Amino acid sequence: SQEQMLASEKMSAAGQLASAFAHELRSPLTVVRGYLQLALRGLEGEDKRFIHLSMSELNHAEYVIHDFLNFARPQVEKVEDVLICDVLAQIQESMSPLVVLHEVDLNMECEENLWIRADQLKVRQALSRIIENAIEAAGGGQVRIKGYRESEYICLSICDNGKGMSKKELEKLGTPFYSTKWKGTGLGLTVSFRIIQAIFGHWSYMSKKGKGTKTIVRLPPRPAAEAPCAESSIL
Ligand code: ADP
Ligand code: MG
Repeated sequence: SQEQMLASEKMSAAGQLASAFAHELRSPLTVVRGYLQLALRGLEGEDKRFIHLSMSELNHAEYVIHDFLNFARPQVEKVEDVLICDVLAQIQESMSPLVVLHEVDLNMECEENLWIRADQLKVRQALSRIIENAIEAAGGGQVRIKGYRESEYICLSICDNGKGMSKKELEKLGTPFYSTKWKGTGLGLTVSFRIIQAIFGHWSYMSKKGKGTKTIVRLPPRPAAEAPCAESSIL
């Protein structure tokens, strides 16, 4: 239909823009990485740790850019065992400057042994973009994140008491370049939702204008390990 054609034209225009943007960002990051590597030589203790932290953040930035670059062309994902608590801990660490900036009270609780099978960096990216939005919306308020198991899913709930969304706004979530922020790209949730979809997960948003937003992400757990005897009988 004409509507579908328009949508796909929009997507490809969005893809072209994102890839031009990503290419521009790649070279300065490569330069920064080079200087960090130089600075690392001869460093010990705390200073060394700071450079390592910067490098791991740089890795993440490059990964995000890589994703922007490919957001119109999905790529084959890596598949590994991922512990949700680890991902949440990493996100908490990398979000701490944002938490301070927005004066948010961030609280995180996670049940143990929540394993999924996915690409860890992608899962981190998908959840980061959702959590980032919650922090930005909550300004001065609270964000509660919970990881738990519920029937057949590993669930994550992200709750903020921020500005909330109207029904109309909720419907636009995930649309490429939809943003109400001054410096927003409007690509965060587009990428998040695609990642969640790729690992056969689901998401839901509940929100009330002026009250806050609750997001629930449901991910399939890692399948139970094969019995060892079954494995050795194959060998
Ligand atoms: P960006 O953050 O760059 O604007 P996103 O795709 O991450 O792009 O989000 C799109 C829009 O959805 C945001 O601009 C904001 O208006 C709205 N939004 C997303 N999450 C929330 C939330 N937790 N509370 C209020 N609004 C939100
Ligand atoms: Mg965002």
